[in-house]
Amino acid sequence: MPDLSAPRLESFELDHDKVRAPYVRLAARYAGERGDIVTKFDLRLVQPNEAEVPTAALHTMEHLLAGYLRAALPGVVVVDASPMGCRTGFYLTLLGEPAEAAVRDAFAAALSAVAGHAGAVPGCTRQRCGNWRDHSLPGARAWAASVLQREIVVQPTVPIVDED
Ligand SMILES: [Zn+2]
Repeated sequence: MPDLSAPRLESFELDHDKVRAPYVRLAARYAGERGDIVTKFDLRLVQPNEAEVPTAALHTMEHLLAGYLRAALPGVVVVDASPMGCRTGFYLTLLGEPAEAAVRDAFAAALSAVAGHAGAVPGCTRQRCGNWRDHSLPGARAWAASVLQREIVVQPTVPIVDED
């Protein structure tokens, strides 16, 4: 029987003490049988275990980044952009393998658009969202602006080294 309690997930192997947010990191790359490549990026907003984005602000960021990341990555199929449960960043899944620096630039452009977003939040209705009252546009704008006060770097993966 496989041990289902401790899957060897990529994110559980990342040393969260040795990364420096905000950053973009190539977290995974998958090759399909027919040669298609799927890449998964770790878009980290805040330093793990030092800060976390409040739920309402992160939720609004999710709704806004859905459009702004796609706009910032023309010609790239965005499969998904979803917040991490730890509320320190997003996972971005793409068809294809753009350079990390290109994803970093797109992340910065999308955050800049979030910071300046005015008007309604897309999809923020009872019919279109699973928790439509739990949103904060002022929060999303402020957190995006605060992330952009620091340079977003390309972060290599730092695996946890077992010391035994
Ligand atoms: Zn929603």
